[in-house]
Amino acid sequence: MASFDKIKQQLLSMREDYTQRIEAIEQDTHHKNEPVEKDFAEQATQSENNDVLAALDNEAQLMVMHIDRALARIEQGTYGICKACGKPIPEQRLQAVPYAELCIACADKNH
Ligand SMILES: [Zn+2]
Repeated sequence: MASFDKIKQQLLSMREDYTQRIEAIEQDTHHKNEPVEKDFAEQATQSENNDVLAALDNEAQLMVMHIDRALARIEQGTYGICKACGKPIPEQRLQAVPYAELCIACADKNH
């Protein structure tokens, strides 16, 4: 399965990006929690920011999870096979969404 080497590299570099993003978000959140703002309006903005950061953090962690699962599937030799129908996922889709678990037809059915 040499053809997945490129995708594996892509997944690993995506994973690195998201991991760095999570670290940056967490540092940012901790930093912002330290000083207590005097202004109430500023405080409100601060907690809104933290909500946005938390949402971004969740999204990035979810992506890392998807990427890890894709990497595990490459190792197990089940990568690129639709989890629902067992048919191969088209390479074009895998290039666009390297962590895809479903073919386009099955992904559509889930919506
Ligand atoms: Zn399918």
